[in-house]
Amino acid sequence: MKSLTEYLWFNTQSRRDYINITSQIEELVKKSKIKDGLCLVNAMHITASVFINDNESGLIQDFDEWLEKFAPHSPISRYRHNQTGEDNGDAHLKRQIMGREAVIAITNNKLDLGPWEQIFYGEFDGKRKKRVLVKIIGE
Ligand code: ZN
Repeated sequence: MKSLTEYLWFNTQSRRDYINITSQIEELVKKSKIKDGLCLVNAMHITASVFINDNESGLIQDFDEWLEKFAPHSPISRYRHNQTGEDNGDAHLKRQIMGREAVIAITNNKLDLGPWEQIFYGEFDGKRKKRVLVKIIGE
């Protein structure tokens, strides 16, 4: 069995951001030379997500508005978590609903994604350095 482990770094300008990382992951699959296997992509921080959906700007905005309705950032005081001195109670909830990771099949050394599937990094408490783990295993 072959494997490749890499880390992608992000440091977003804004508190919340959604970054299409599909081509970066595709490059790593190519580099791994694995023809048949699995690719795990996971956020290593509890206020960020990796998820798969459509790369359509309206939808990305819809996600952001929906998440902000579900767990508004302010008032900060609405979250018990923020009584610890943090201000990211909302970001933990947003991460939970958008998920921690994506697992994608690899077929013929390519990500075997559905027709409109794209891989995103979702940031909910940005403006600092954060990591995403990419682990590819197979033959
Ligand atoms: Zn926190």
